[in-house]
Amino acid sequence: MPSRSLRVAVIGAGAAGLVAARELRREGHAPVVFERTDGVGGTWVYEADADASASPEPLVTQRRSNLDASLRTNLPRECMGFLDFPFVAGPDGDTRRFPGHAEVLRYLQSFARRFDLDGLVRLETEVVRVSRETSGTSWRVRYSRKASGSEKRETDEEVFDAVVICNGHYSQPHFADVAGVDAWPGKQLHSTSYRVPEPFHGQVVVVIGCGPSGTDISRDIAGVAKEVHLASRWSLSATSEKLPGHANMWFHSEAQIDRAQEDGSVVFHDGSRVKADVIMHCTGYILAACIVQMQIQVQLPIPHQRCNRLRGRQLCRSTVQACVPATGCSSTLLHRVAFKGGPFSTVRAAEPLGGRRSVGAIQAPI
Ligand SMILES: Cc1cc2nc3c(=O)[nH]c(=O)nc-3n(C[C@H](O)[C@H](O)[C@H](O)COP(=O)(O)OP(=O)(O)OC[C@H]3O[C@@H](n4cnc5c(N)ncnc54)[C@H](O)[C@@H]3O)c2cc1C
Repeated sequence: MPSRSLRVAVIGAGAAGLVAARELRREGHAPVVFERTDGVGGTWVYEADADASASPEPLVTQRRSNLDASLRTNLPRECMGFLDFPFVAGPDGDTRRFPGHAEVLRYLQSFARRFDLDGLVRLETEVVRVSRETSGTSWRVRYSRKASGSEKRETDEEVFDAVVICNGHYSQPHFADVAGVDAWPGKQLHSTSYRVPEPFHGQVVVVIGCGPSGTDISRDIAGVAKEVHLASRWSLSATSEKLPGHANMWFHSEAQIDRAQEDGSVVFHDGSRVKADVIMHCTGYILAACIVQMQIQVQLPIPHQRCNRLRGRQLCRSTVQACVPATGCSSTLLHRVAFKGGPFSTVRAAEPLGGRRSVGAIQAPI
């Protein structure tokens, strides 16, 4: 048991926020979880809003959900679950080893139920500011929520002993810089807006980025599109080649695309060109580790490419150090092998609050 039970604000009710809340309570603290949307699960809440659109949605800068309808996990379920709450297939669920996104959401919801976390979560309540009290020992959290019986929003403030930031990494899309794109007449969108392939029927689509989203989405679209051109920057030489096994997919390597032109052409680095209808940016996200406006001003907007280099130890250390001037504010970083790591990083956040471990332990590489 900790020497003193603390009131802890947890920002976000995705996988990280849920496990943070559980660990904090296990350590004898009193967490309150702020979630700006109307449910728990974070990234894994699918929003079908783009399904019905007749044409691809224009550029967006922020979305709640970034899952496409057919998305399945890129890790087997046995690698994804929390260590003490295995992600096993239920009789009525999606029993595949790489299940669809709805199964992951069901898993997180059942985690919340199993550990009685729902009562800790304040839904539709967005934290808009975290500032350190002048005493230096506590944090003032300002939040906005829908006023009861009205569409208006109201703001309120509460003071907490500690803050754990679990606001996720995938909300601010990062777009590739394409020379000439402003004069190019086609449509651009980011993978975060992609839901279903139908709006791309008969179109020529250039997909930038060859990560999991780029490869999944290009295969999905190829079922209905006239042509799909997958442009990757990870290659030693500039080539364009047809992908084996696909009648309408090409792979263009080196430095993504050279330029887009007013006549609708997209020109690749080897000089080849296509008249394209759509450019789909599957180019990751801007890491906003501490998007909460803080009095101590912590902002880490790092484009995902740079974030890849920083990711893991270095980034974790820099984030936590940035967010923890003395004690009490920590950031939970979940990345791809997400859920298994969660308890470790949040335990590291929770334990020092109770005095069982020094704050230095939070700052050590996780
Ligand atoms: C397309 C895609 C596919 C993925 N596939 C896999 C996979 O197959 N396997 C895997 O392990 N991982 C995968 N991931 C990684 C995934 O992000 C993690 O699995 C995990 O869901 C991250 O959880 P999180 O709690 O850190 O963030 P999130 O799930 O993003 O949750 C953050 C929560 O914080 C809330 N929030 C943000 N700001 C505020 C605020 N100011 N106030 C209140 N609430 C706020 C958000 O609404 C959200 O609910 C994928 C990610 C994406 C985008």
